Amino acid sequence: MRIIFIGPPGAGKGTQAERLVQTYRMAHLSTGDMLRAARDAKTEVGLKAEQYMSKGALVPDEVIVDIIAQRLEQPDCQDGYLLDGFPRTIAQAEALDAMLAKKGTPLDAVLELQVPEDELFRRLASRGRADDSPQVIRQRLVAYRQQTEPLLAYYRQRSLLKSIDGLGTVDEIFRRACQVLNQ
Ligand code: AMP
Repeated sequence: MRIIFIGPPGAGKGTQAERLVQTYRMAHLSTGDMLRAARDAKTEVGLKAEQYMSKGALVPDEVIVDIIAQRLEQPDCQDGYLLDGFPRTIAQAEALDAMLAKKGTPLDAVLELQVPEDELFRRLASRGRADDSPQVIRQRLVAYRQQTEPLLAYYRQRSLLKSIDGLGTVDEIFRRACQVLNQ
């Protein structure tokens, strides 16, 4: 299964992604994890990305599209994957569509985790990652609303969007995710 997992920062995507990739045997492709690893390794891409990440802004589309294009060629992606944190803009979604059309491997679903904004801010503020100062959190939520939310309509038009309520226990949310993916 090839799926996109979409949701605002703080929605609990990471936790659910871990369980979903185990259950459905998909590679877990988290662009945030990839960029943090590149930053920590001080690669050229990592150092460039850090300038954006530290402000809560998105890194430029061409940087992230290159990373994903290379990643999708790896053997562990051939039996399916869950994209976590990508695409985040319409341009990224279009680039992904072009890549997948060329490979003849269409997406199966786009899973959206829905969490109200006041709850997101509360969760993010208590998480305490280095890029989680209140100002950076606010900026990441703004980036989501302005640049990523338009993807919901994009995938709804393509009949791929499946939205689930992201409030509740980890188990409850996981069951909802499995239910819509099994349909
Ligand atoms: P995440 O862990 O997915 O919230 O990503 C952390 C940060 O990495 C984001 O705030 C962005 O700066 C950057 N990032 C991750 N994925 C993308 C993407 N698909 N496009 C642009 N920037 C990204």
